[in-house]
This record gives sequence, C-alpha cells and structure tokens, in this order.
Amino acid sequence: MALSATDVKKVKAQGFLRNRGTDEFSARIITENGVLSAKQMQNLVEAAEKFGNGKIEFTSRLTVELPGVKYEDIPAFQEYVAKEGMETGGTGSRVRPVVSCKGTTCVFGLYDTQALASEIHRRFYEGYHAVTLPHKFKIAVGGCPNNCVKPDLNDLGIVGQRVPRLNTETCRACKKCGVEASCPMQAVKRKEGYAEIDPSVCNNCGRCFGKCPFGALTHSETMYRVYVGGRWGKKIRIGSPLNRLFTQEEALDVVEKAILLFKSKGKTGERFGETVERLGVEKVEKMLVANNLLKRKEEILEEETIGGASC
Ligand code: SF4
Ligand code: SF4
Ligand code: SF4
Repeated sequence: MALSATDVKKVKAQGFLRNRGTDEFSARIITENGVLSAKQMQNLVEAAEKFGNGKIEFTSRLTVELPGVKYEDIPAFQEYVAKEGMETGGTGSRVRPVVSCKGTTCVFGLYDTQALASEIHRRFYEGYHAVTLPHKFKIAVGGCPNNCVKPDLNDLGIVGQRVPRLNTETCRACKKCGVEASCPMQAVKRKEGYAEIDPSVCNNCGRCFGKCPFGALTHSETMYRVYVGGRWGKKIRIGSPLNRLFTQEEALDVVEKAILLFKSKGKTGERFGETVERLGVEKVEKMLVANNLLKRKEEILEEETIGGASC
C-alpha cells in the first residue's frame, strides 16, 4: 500500500520511524530507565522475528529499536510488546525518554539512579505525554560526578552528590592521610598537618568516605546537583549548574518547574538552553527555586504551545 505523508507522521508520533528508502519502520521501545527484564527481552526477540527483520538496535538514549516493521503490522506489534508492559514512543516536541547511568549497581554510584529515572519517567514522560513543548526536552540522571551519562549535555541533568565534612577538632594530623590519598580531585590540603577540604575543588564524589580511621570525616545524605539548558548536537551548550543542591523530592519539583518554564517561556523551535540564555541563568534559577511555576501549573498547561521538533 502507498503511504501518505500523513500516515508516516501519524505513526512517527507513536514511535515508528520510517526506515530510509523503504515503507518499513523502526519501532522505538521505551525502556523507562535503560533496564529490561529477561521476559521483556524475550518478547522483543520474538517481536523482531515476527514483525521486523530479526534485528534489535540499541539507541544512544537507551531505547531499543526494532527495524523492518510494516505499516499494517503496527497495531499488532504494539499489542504484542504490551504483553510485557512495553510501549513505543519517544518522538516529538515533548519530554523524551529519560536516560540513566548504571549508578544503581556502579561502585561509584551515590544513589539508585534507575529508581529515580523510573520515577521521572512515570511523572514527567508519562505524566506530561500529552503536553506539547516548544521543542524536545531531554532528561538524564547520573549517579556521581563522573558524569558517564553526560547530564550536563541534556536539557535537564541530575547528578548525585555527597558533601564531605572534615572535623578539624577530631583530625590527628596523621603523617599519611587516607582522605587526602583517596581524593581524585586533590581537594584535600594540609594546614599544619591537619586535613582541610577546598570546597571550590571538591566535586562531592564521596570517594574519600570511610578513609579516615579516626572519624574526622563525615558526610551529608545524598543530595542532587541540577544542570539546566544543556544540549549536544548541531549546537552545543554545557548546562548551567544551579547553585544550591537539592533533596530528591526538591529535585523532582525542579524537573517539573523546568518543564513548565519551558512550556510557558520557550519559543517554538528553541531548545531549553536558548530559553535559559534569553531569560538569564540567574532569573531562571530563581524561578526554579520558587514555587510560582507549580502554583500556575494548570494555567500554564492550558496555554497553547506549538512544537518545533523535527525529529
Ligand atoms: S556516573 Fe558515576 S555512578 Fe554513574 S556509571 Fe558513571 S561512575 Fe558509575
Ligand atoms: S582526616 Fe583522618 S586520616 Fe586524614 S589526617 Fe585527619 S585524622 Fe588523619
Ligand atoms: S568528596 Fe570527592 S572530591 Fe571531595 S574531598 Fe572527597 S574524594 Fe575529594
């Protein structure tokens, strides 16, 4: 059957991307946080053989694509993967699939990144799925300042932090300091033998925890650094880190406020980084910390927005 541009556009909005030069499509499966169960993988293997060309492709943003799906098989494909709780999507001018590093199991991870990514998926990928934004909005969740998943190159990025505290009263000015030796940032200095942490160098990675046998080093609970307005691609912008650290609940609120801010103040076709630049980082930070955007949520959601994403 001949496909019209409308047919192609309609299924693209559902996560079916036309395979170049053919009338077949890649079905984009959303993994929520980059994790699939063995049963889900088995389901995809079967779906690739039943509906696709037998191949399974992994994308750079932790979705899975099955190429070679025929237009007329799309409803049956969706029904098949839904048996294991999976869905297609991840396109258009809206919140895109969330990307997480493997901080849940990684030795450097400061918290359960995949659990936080699932929560963001539930609240802001699913919760805002019907909400059109001026462009796509990418979110990444990283477990520590190693930044493997590059949170600062996303429209919004979250990085786990644990703030060390050195008690100079307890410090014994040891000849060899385990805290100093373990710090990859060389943030620990000695003042007359006593260890001190330079907060302008420390990145809150937590690698020094447990390295003082005399209990001079303690640390905060896990906190979250939020970067706004990052992007990588045709244009590049490193996300601006907000000055203060947030608890997890506060960070989730900042995600929602950032989406509302983008919807309300963004211009069609501009990425969040351009909105941040236009308004000024300082002003944006104030708006993301205050509660006005959440108070105006219903009103903002009713405003008309024309999306500008072409992919
Ligand atoms: S960012 Fe940190 S926690 Fe996440 S995978 Fe990299 S090293 Fe591990
Ligand atoms: S921080 Fe701990 S290990 Fe380092 S010098 Fe002080 S007491 Fe010794
Ligand atoms: S938290 Fe990381 S950067 Fe800061 S002092 Fe400890 S090891 Fe160094």
